[in-house]
Amino acid sequence: MPYESWLPALLPHFKEGFSNALQELLQEKNLCQSVSINLNFIKTWAFESDEASGQDFYQNRKDQPAAGEKDQNVGAQVLNANWYPEGCAPTGEAQPIPGSRALRVASYSFPLPPIKWSCEECLERSVFKADLPRCRFVAGKDHDDEQSLLLSYECQACRGWRVRFFVSRKGEKLELSGRDAIAMQPVPRSVPAAVAHYFSEAQVAHRSGLSLAAFLLLREFIEQFWRSLPEMQEALSWSSQMTAIEVGECYATQLPLEFKAEYPSLTDCHNWLSNSILEPSLYRDRFEYCLRDVVEHLDGRRFRRLSTYREFEEARAV
Ligand SMILES: [Zn+2]
Repeated sequence: MPYESWLPALLPHFKEGFSNALQELLQEKNLCQSVSINLNFIKTWAFESDEASGQDFYQNRKDQPAAGEKDQNVGAQVLNANWYPEGCAPTGEAQPIPGSRALRVASYSFPLPPIKWSCEECLERSVFKADLPRCRFVAGKDHDDEQSLLLSYECQACRGWRVRFFVSRKGEKLELSGRDAIAMQPVPRSVPAAVAHYFSEAQVAHRSGLSLAAFLLLREFIEQFWRSLPEMQEALSWSSQMTAIEVGECYATQLPLEFKAEYPSLTDCHNWLSNSILEPSLYRDRFEYCLRDVVEHLDGRRFRRLSTYREFEEARAV
């Protein structure tokens, strides 16, 4: 199939693929982690176009490349182009010439996706959009499919908070090489400030792929939360040798029965985390479940006004 025919058909899929991969990378990944651009549409397209032209997709004839080879060639040609964000055109780069096969210097654009990110001004997760005048594209010197992106995103709710990302691309892989708000992770309002750093660091560890550290930090958060509550101080004063399990049981006995029936148990989360620590790579997904249950539990306490934590903290500070 001639170049003029397949390029218009494939470009929208490439644009969508770049945009979706970048959104996943910026929202979900941490430093040094990467995502792959989904190129499955090339196989679908090759299958459909061969079917339409009456060719047997699986038949390997001498005068035509095999289907798999054709897929690779098509994908590589388009990937080898400069892929710059819309509004950040590379200067001095050659543009694609219709009908030309000189694709090594071709440049194509893709839309920068909006992302959900935590805003320190709004104190919640909000929509951030790219601030195009402050975004840059740099093409690689030696390899056509290597490039760098410096992206500035702005909170759309307050327009006062920004986060900047440094993204490296090599072929179909996008890697998060830098971010200027690395330490910040969303901490719900129901998490007491005195122990919030354990909660935040657990999320940083999880998003960095450090499962063991993430489990340990979230478990430590639960234990420190129990030990910091005013209603636990009397029991803790009786014995300085209470184990975490005993502290958890003591905490649970003080909760109203209807609360325990409605909200997840911190003791259960503590047990799951302890078990997960033994095989962190096997139970990586369990972190998200435990984190969700912990937040639901704490939100429940806040909603039911169970905690006298604020008053306790203020009294202790005097
Ligand atoms: Zn904001």
